[in-house]
Amino acid sequence: MPLVSMKEMLQKAKEENYGVGQFNVNGLSWVHAILDAAQQEEAPVIVAASDRLIDFLGGYRTVAAMVSVLVEEKKIQVPVALHLDHGKTVENCLRAIDAGFTSVMFDGSHGPIEDNIRDTKKVTAYAATKGVSVEAEVGTVGGMEDGLIGGIQYADPNECKRIVEETGIDALAAALGSVHGRYVGEPKLGFSEMEVISGMVGIPLVLHGASGIPRHQLQRAIQLGHAKVNINTECVTTWSHQLRKTLAADTETTEPRTILTPAREAIRETVRSKIREFGSSGKALSLKTK
Ligand code: 13P
Repeated sequence: MPLVSMKEMLQKAKEENYGVGQFNVNGLSWVHAILDAAQQEEAPVIVAASDRLIDFLGGYRTVAAMVSVLVEEKKIQVPVALHLDHGKTVENCLRAIDAGFTSVMFDGSHGPIEDNIRDTKKVTAYAATKGVSVEAEVGTVGGMEDGLIGGIQYADPNECKRIVEETGIDALAAALGSVHGRYVGEPKLGFSEMEVISGMVGIPLVLHGASGIPRHQLQRAIQLGHAKVNINTECVTTWSHQLRKTLAADTETTEPRTILTPAREAIRETVRSKIREFGSSGKALSLKTK
């Protein structure tokens, strides 16, 4: 099945109150693990590459080839979108689209809203000609974002409404207290603001920094309009723990497959459990037959 945009999968998820997982990749092991997990759970999935890691991963075209070819080689039957996470510039988003990404996020959240809207519009105009979906962000997710450590700044509901109406984006990341990376104590999400913004914009919301958010809070966020839920930290944590364990258990081994396979399986199991938590298991079937 060829890569698809995330538009249809998110609209359906919003209508039926479940979340589609976005899982970030940090190398080939992640792509294997995420695709295997989605296939086993029969869930639609969003495979994402953060713009800040594109050089490390070998460039937009390498990432697009790695994901699209692996989908084919593994005979993956569930809908898979390839998404650029936190696209830093309009040019980078366009390059990702030209390379074969089926979805992009333009993150203009650090500048004034006028600039964010103007630049997001450039991305949606180009994406529309290619059938590619677009996500934008308003407000600031805490923790590490785009390589910058920042504080939380809540999204302004009027700015959210404007960016949706003026740019035609498919999904909106409205920052409401979530943090990339680890939480110190219980996350404090702005649920009342979430309800207001979701009602005002009508389109699927995106929850960044979802690693470490307890199940009951995640489910409430999904009920309040979050159709896309982003996970990176939980996968890199499980991967690195397993890698340490494997190396400690046999200090003589040098066989990459022996060292890397358990870590890949650990990612797969984490992705599977998140998919179940978000309620998207089995949802690929109805999407495919539409
Ligand atoms: P975590 O690293 O907290 O899982 O957040 C992922 C994310 O939001 C990517 O954009």
